[in-house]
Amino acid sequence: MTLADFPAIGDKEIIMKAIRHYGTSQQMLMAIEEMSELTKALCKDFRNAKGARGQIVEEMADVYIMLAQIEIIFEAQKDMHEIVDRKLERLEKRMEIDK
Ligand SMILES: [Mg+2]
Repeated sequence: MTLADFPAIGDKEIIMKAIRHYGTSQQMLMAIEEMSELTKALCKDFRNAKGARGQIVEEMADVYIMLAQIEIIFEAQKDMHEIVDRKLERLEKRMEIDK
């Protein structure tokens, strides 16, 4: 399963089309921009600003879409599943040690 296969992304072809239309450099730059917008929304929540949750969810969706494109641009689809599994296992072990 790739990010583009996740149920939240209904039409994988739009992801591919965006990469072809805007180009890889532009989409990498857009990913950076969207990640910074999510960072800003998360910071806003720490200040208990009104509407932060809605903004966080909106920016999560933007980042999700951009990560799906980055995954394709770097041909990381095959590696991603294995790496995420490994990192989750490592996280679980760390939490066991913290007990
Ligand atoms: Mg955004």
